[in-house]
Amino acid sequence: MTALREPAWHWPKPDLRGELRFEESLSEHTSWRAGGPAERFYLPADRDDLMVFLRALPTDEHLFWLGLGSNLLVRDGGIRGTVICTRNRLKALRRSGEDRVYAEAGVPCALVAKFCAEQGLAGAEFLAGIPGTLGGALAMNAGAFGGETWSLVQGVTSVDRFGTVRERVPSDFAIGYRTVRGPVGEWFLAAELGLAPDENAASRSKIKALLARRNETQPTHQPSCGSVFRNPEGDHAARLIEASGLKGIRIGGACVSEKHANFIINTGSATAKDIETLVFHVQAEVRQRQGVELLPEVRIVGSPAPEAK
Ligand SMILES: Cc1cc2nc3c(=O)[nH]c(=O)nc-3n(C[C@H](O)[C@H](O)[C@H](O)COP(=O)(O)OP(=O)(O)OC[C@H]3O[C@@H](n4cnc5c(N)ncnc54)[C@H](O)[C@@H]3O)c2cc1C
Repeated sequence: MTALREPAWHWPKPDLRGELRFEESLSEHTSWRAGGPAERFYLPADRDDLMVFLRALPTDEHLFWLGLGSNLLVRDGGIRGTVICTRNRLKALRRSGEDRVYAEAGVPCALVAKFCAEQGLAGAEFLAGIPGTLGGALAMNAGAFGGETWSLVQGVTSVDRFGTVRERVPSDFAIGYRTVRGPVGEWFLAAELGLAPDENAASRSKIKALLARRNETQPTHQPSCGSVFRNPEGDHAARLIEASGLKGIRIGGACVSEKHANFIINTGSATAKDIETLVFHVQAEVRQRQGVELLPEVRIVGSPAPEAK
């Protein structure tokens, strides 16, 4: 048994079935393949186990929720406290009504899209190319090709740090372009999605076409976080970055993609610091050359690495 670093933690709890890891490298759990460790990293066995874990958690423990890490830059010093990883853990997915699908937060978006298409339900095709979990998509209001996560949401199940579960409706949240503001201190456990009948059995071919378009225009086989910046009103971040002559520029192992200027790729050895420095360099250059303030879409979390003595 791993030695505990905090006396306040009485582990193992006999009634817990999940896996608690210590100093887990988050570069293994983020699509940028960079960043520091999680002090504690919990993989719940399922939703019930997660509730037991939350109720057992010291009340001052910092909590961070992680899906597939496809919109996250974790700084090299990592995340203190506990990271809860839902990926492959909260994975219930079922048809819950004639035009309804119920999915837990850890289900990959691509699986939700495929399941809906197989069920003869239309409207979730855009999720096929978003390489995150449904929980991350709910937190980000992820969208593509004209579709947005919250346009499908009929209701969500949330949980707070004490393990109190609530059913919430969309009007409990302020939803915008890649922003979702809702009750503070709650995370998503699951959502009920509303779809339409796939009258012409077109969903599968639509998914194929959307994925092909992505592969043509995005560096999908290199470590990235998708679009780094939000598109400003009436324009595209990629156009502004390209017009500023920034395609291909590098800092350490981080590089602005030649294929899509709003993507920063890890060429193999990038630290989170390289990536963050490049993000803010691009932002400053676009501000200076185009007079536009780009706002990051990616979430930058954690602490910088301690200075070497
Ligand atoms: C190649 C590529 C292409 C992409 N294309 C798109 C695109 O077309 N459109 C788009 O919108 N995004 C895109 N993204 C970004 C990313 O996939 C989405 O933002 C996705 O929704 C993030 O989901 P995740 O599970 O990876 O979340 P994570 O990156 O793990 O987390 C993102 C945020 O959500 C929070 N979070 C995660 N789970 C929960 C939960 N259960 N409850 C509450 N908060 C939670 C985290 O704390 C964090 O703040 C792309 C990324 C890549 C790498």
